[in-house]
Amino acid sequence: MTHERTDQHTRMAREGRTLRTRDERERLCPTPGASVAQSPTLPRNPDGWFLHVPFLQRVVMPGKAEDRRLAKPDLKVGTLDLYADSTVGAAWAGDRVPDVRTLWHAQENAQREKTLQKVARNQRASGRPVKGERSNQALWQTIRGRDAALAWRMAALIVTWAVAQGIQVLVFEYLRPYRPTRGLSRSRRTNRKRSYWHRGQIRRHVRDLALRQGILVVERHPAWTSQVCPHCHRLAERFSPGGSGYPSRLRGGGCGWSGDANVAAALNLKRKWDRTFRYPTKAERQAAELRRASNGGAAVNPGQVPISV
Ligand SMILES: [Zn+2]
Repeated sequence: MTHERTDQHTRMAREGRTLRTRDERERLCPTPGASVAQSPTLPRNPDGWFLHVPFLQRVVMPGKAEDRRLAKPDLKVGTLDLYADSTVGAAWAGDRVPDVRTLWHAQENAQREKTLQKVARNQRASGRPVKGERSNQALWQTIRGRDAALAWRMAALIVTWAVAQGIQVLVFEYLRPYRPTRGLSRSRRTNRKRSYWHRGQIRRHVRDLALRQGILVVERHPAWTSQVCPHCHRLAERFSPGGSGYPSRLRGGGCGWSGDANVAAALNLKRKWDRTFRYPTKAERQAAELRRASNGGAAVNPGQVPISV
């Protein structure tokens, strides 16, 4: 490649050009799959000097999502739903779902909250924060380090699963802007915010890793996906198996199906990709609202879907 570059420089100087032709640019790109080391740099940060050697890899873009969907309706699709405690993936073969996988990270989520509680306790004990001085640095560093490692680990697990299932398109739900919940302790609030941010991080890593495997990653709006029945597509009801606590299950009104709400959301997301998602009618929404009001449940509103944390 160095030869090619020198040759091109000589030729360009001889012909009085400053810009490369398309063909010349093409010849400087590495062959797909090969990694080429670039010039190293020596960045400095508070911990010292680091030798940074970037690698260049050529990735062939699979093309625009909608064009591909229209050209090849039988693309292998994987739908993914990220929550604070788990990630649910569904692999599709046409209309069938040969594999549904739940990856748990509830323990890591709880561990983060515990560390945040420790930070809060320390802050209470030390009184007013000193301006310009950072407190609990070691604890924050632990949290950051764990989150970074977890994000990469989850992304690697997701992409490995997608490759094993032969998935060509991964559909994520579009991450809505974070809205804080009132009435929670400070550490719990901070944990929710961090967990939300963390899910964005996983998504970015998945995008990076998936692209290298030739897998396209797209996002679709999640409105109503966790509230309709994946079988009859009618508005379903959330309930908790024990009768109290977080309503993690979904019960279909039309067909009697019941199952995990997170799994249902991942299944429904497929119809957002196919553009066949059936939105609940106004009459259905009103009926559900009345039912809910009579048994004192949560409101049905795409913006107020309870987030499992
Ligand atoms: Zn149903």
